[in-house]
Order: sequence, then structure tokens, then C-alpha cells
Amino acid sequence: MEPVLLRARGVPDSRSIATYLAAGGYEGWKKALGMGPDAVTKEVLDSELRGRGGAGFPTGRKWSFVPKDHPGPRYLVCNADESEPGTFKDREIIEYDPHQVVEGVAIASFAIKANTAYIYIRGEFVRWARILEDAIAEARQRGFLGKNVMGSGFDLDVWVHRGAGAYICGEETALLESIEGKRGFPRLKPPFPAVVGVFGQPTVINNVETLACVPHIIVRGAAWFASIGRPKNTGPKLFCVSGHVNRPGVFELPLGVTFREIIEEHAGGVRGGRQLKAFFPGGSSAPILTAAEVDTMADFDACAAAGTMLGSGGIIVFDDTVDMVDVADNVAHFYAHESCGQCTPCREGSDWCMDILDRIVAGHGRPADPDTLLRICRFSSAGMTICPLGDAFALPISSIVNKYRSEFERRIASATPLPQKKQPVLPWAGPCPGFGI
Ligand code: SF4
Repeated sequence: MEPVLLRARGVPDSRSIATYLAAGGYEGWKKALGMGPDAVTKEVLDSELRGRGGAGFPTGRKWSFVPKDHPGPRYLVCNADESEPGTFKDREIIEYDPHQVVEGVAIASFAIKANTAYIYIRGEFVRWARILEDAIAEARQRGFLGKNVMGSGFDLDVWVHRGAGAYICGEETALLESIEGKRGFPRLKPPFPAVVGVFGQPTVINNVETLACVPHIIVRGAAWFASIGRPKNTGPKLFCVSGHVNRPGVFELPLGVTFREIIEEHAGGVRGGRQLKAFFPGGSSAPILTAAEVDTMADFDACAAAGTMLGSGGIIVFDDTVDMVDVADNVAHFYAHESCGQCTPCREGSDWCMDILDRIVAGHGRPADPDTLLRICRFSSAGMTICPLGDAFALPISSIVNKYRSEFERRIASATPLPQKKQPVLPWAGPCPGFGI
């Protein structure tokens, strides 16, 4: 497939607006202004573009949820937080082609009639925040942003908003809280952001890669986009491959290729000629797949059918030297650290999983531990929490316990019991006064 989103990678001075314009840049923006907001939304709906941030929700449908008769302002937010472990594709787009993102932001803002857009980026990504600010300044100077864009009567301001570096701020409602200057606590839904978003106004939140697809859909048409991939799973997708492969990196491929093709052909196969053992197909919050599942197609529906998710497209590969108990422990540490603490099942559950896994790793596992882990995961997922972080630790950990249970049992079989803690001496001797126990 000829590169679409990464077509500027390797082109000299690819970030400048002159290079972007020479390659046909901002033609989609000009065309969109002539089409009108409804026609732009319809084109994106017809393309069957699905969100590239993790959830895979149809982009045009999301735009159509903004109330048409809303009297106040609306906002477009581009989510460039990209904090999911194993995910580094949005930075690749921004690094080589920031105007592609700015143009996508402009078209999407026009489609939902928003005059202000924010690009929310993780605090540590200083380099990419500066690249985006430079691109926005260039676009404003050329009249692609600002008052009365290209004489259309449409005004648009775009701002880069840097977060403070919390994983949870990639969750859309926590991100909105963060833009408002508050602590990044996810909000209970409904209401959904398309109705009540940032500053209480309708807000659409789209990922960088999603928005980068939009100018191409407008210029080349929905039918062209839908011809890539397979029905309901259309268009090019960026896959970032890390872990035990010979050639880690970001690869642009049509949705629907197999994980085998991505790992063996594009990422050069497993390092040192070793065997593939397992892989996360969509960042560390996706249930793990085994080597036997490597022929699963890398798209939204095929991953769902395989009991996992495409997520962000961050593929983390493990070879046969890896102990899966360690992987589960690593996952638990990350999510226990990143839980915002609002919901008991997530706050306590992630901590309990981490404590149990730490104990197994330290050689003090107990026979009941695998089932205890599964029970904690069951009570921490499936809508028991405000945001999906409960699922983000529960699904990968339970999938690892289920698929690699023998590795847990092997460790536990050779475990030694923890030395008993000395019981504290209570100030009263005998039964607890007042309770009769
Ligand atoms: Fe916070 Fe976890 Fe609840 Fe999400 S699920 S709101 S991260 S405690």
C-alpha cells in the first residue's frame, strides 16, 4: 500500500508548510469549506472511518451527536496524549507531517461548527508540542486559521494545551477536566462530551491519527478510503511494534492484515531467531494473544471476535524467554500507579493485583492466588468503574492468568510461605469491648 499518513516520512523539510502545500496540503480544507458542514460529516460517515485512539467508534457518527440547535459554543479536541504503553504512532505523524493534523483539526471543527479547537498533548512531549505550535503559527500566517478563514466567514482558533503527564488524561473526560485546569478525574457518562463537554459545551474528541485521515477522505473521497481494508474496518492504520522483534517501528498498513504479517514481514520477525510466545495487539490494556493466535486480522472486528481489541495499534511482542507472571506483574504496577483513585474497584483492585503478583514473583505465591486474581479482575471490569481504566488492568491480567495459568502454578508450586507477621498487641486484653467478640 502506498503510504498515506506517513507519506512525508523521509521527505526533506517535511514539517514546513511550503513542503505540505507542494504535496497538495490544505486542498481538503479548501474543498470542505465549499462543501458545508453536513456534507463533510456525510463524507466521513460514508468512509466508515473509525476512531484510531482505542475505542474504534465511527468518527462521522460521533460528530453527528453534537446537538444541531445548541446556541452556545462548541469545541473540537484533538487527543495527542498518547500514553498507552507500546504506542508511539501519533508522534510519528506530528514529527513528519504536523500540518496534516492541523488540517484534520480544521475540517473536523468546521463539520461540528466549532470555532475553537484544542490539541491536548502529554506534558513530557515538549518537542511535539513545539512542532504543533510552529505548524499552527504557519497555518495562521497563511490564512488557513484565524478570522474569516480563506474568505469563508468561518473563524477558527487552534491552541496546543499541554497536560501534566498523567496516563488517565488520555481518557476523554479526564482530558476535558485537565483542559479546564482541574485535576484529571474522569467524569461519569452520560452526559457524553458531544452534549456536555469542555466548559459545559458540546465537544468532540478525536485522536491525532483519526483526524489525520480526514483531509485525505475529503480530497480523495469516501469510496477511495472505504476501498482500503475491509468493510467496517476501512482505511490505512499505523501499527507500532515494540518488544522482541528485529525491526521495531511504526508501519502503515491497511486494516485487516494479519498480526503474523506485521510481526514477521514488517517488523523483521522475533529477535535472534527465537519463537514468538505472546503479544499485546493494541497496547498493554488489550487482552493478550498467544503465538497460536498470530493469524488474527489486525482490525477492530477481528480483534473483538478473538476476545481482545485493536486499541491503539501498539503491538508489544514477547519471545519464548519471557515469563508471563512477570508480564502480568509489570502491567499491574503500571495501572496501579496510574489509577486516579475515584472508584474502589479500580483503586483497590489494581493495588491488590499488584501485591499478589509481587508476592508470587518474590517466591511466596499461594495456591489460591490465580483464582483470587481472576475474581478481583471480574469485579474491577465490565462497567464497575467510572472510566475504562478498570478494564485496562483487569482484562490483560485475567487473559494472562487464563492463557498461561501453568506458569503461575509452576512458580507457586516451588514457593515458600511468607514469614508470619507478629500480631500487634491490642491495648485491651480479651474480647473487644462493646461488640462482645
Ligand atoms: Fe479513576 Fe480508575 Fe475509576 Fe477511572 S476507573 S475513574 S482511573 S479510579
